[in-house]
Amino acid sequence: MTDRYAVFGNPIGHSKSPRIHSLFAAQTGQDISYQAILAERDGFAAAISAFIAAAKGSARGANVTVPFKAEAFRLATWRTPRAEAAGAVNTLSFEAGAIGGDNTDGAGLVRDLKRNLGCDPAGRRILLLGAGGAARGVILPLLLENPAELVIANRSEETAARLALEFARLPGCAVSVKPDGTGFTGLGGRQFDLIINATSAGLGGAVLPLPTSVFAPRCVAYEMVYGRETPFMQQARATGARVADGLGMLVEQAAEAFFVWRGVRPHTAPVLAALKGN
Ligand code: NDP
Repeated sequence: MTDRYAVFGNPIGHSKSPRIHSLFAAQTGQDISYQAILAERDGFAAAISAFIAAAKGSARGANVTVPFKAEAFRLATWRTPRAEAAGAVNTLSFEAGAIGGDNTDGAGLVRDLKRNLGCDPAGRRILLLGAGGAARGVILPLLLENPAELVIANRSEETAARLALEFARLPGCAVSVKPDGTGFTGLGGRQFDLIINATSAGLGGAVLPLPTSVFAPRCVAYEMVYGRETPFMQQARATGARVADGLGMLVEQAAEAFFVWRGVRPHTAPVLAALKGN
């Protein structure tokens, strides 16, 4: 029986996950099906139950995207430490009546930075813009890479400060750097080697109030949004920074989920090239 997977979101029509996972399956010879499912905004748990029931024992897992990652966290009957730290789940596994929750976003970002972009976060001064779900998911994986510093800057300064404090106090976690939280105005006079935009500002074309002086020479500017040139990317490019969008992160977080489910790690380079139309 073919093992069944799906991605749940609202909206979901734009999702590249079915294509990515079918390319992974073809490449690794895994017998799976993967579909995109639109869940009602108040119907996430019901949509998961319906998927499991309809699959008649062949549902093995699901990816979860906006706006359901926090709900998926609550739905999971057990969670990985990285999902606990993120407070959000993007990967569910169905096994023996239990629902496992994981978060592969941070691993996906770090892999894209290190493997695809040759940008090792170790020793870098990192600025993380945003304090929403995507930012939460990448903080611990970034800290575990031993950066020189990690500053979280957000439009709502209190959210950034709260998030920084939370990750500074992570129990039993061997990280040497404690993140700092600030608003955009607190960035004057500071410079960073790696700036990651985890805000959704670029989706609507909004310009971040980011001083141009934050881009250090040879800075890498990473935009989590993909498929468009955002104002953040334009600003970074104008300073001479090296710029990347979030397509690599999307493919790498999917590969990590595929590995969680199937125990096989697909090659991501050909899939990334296919998505870019190369
Ligand atoms: P959330 O809604 O949880 O958080 C949005 C964040 O963006 C908040 O910090 C918010 O600040 C900030 N923000 C929104 N609009 C503006 C603005 N005009 N100016 C300044 N700050 C703004 O979203 P997520 O964290 O889930 O997602 C963030 C982005 O990351 C999305 O665009 C998503 O597509 C992308 N993403 C990409 C992934 C990939 O694989 N490439 C994976 C996951 C996410 P405030 O707190 O002040 O409201």
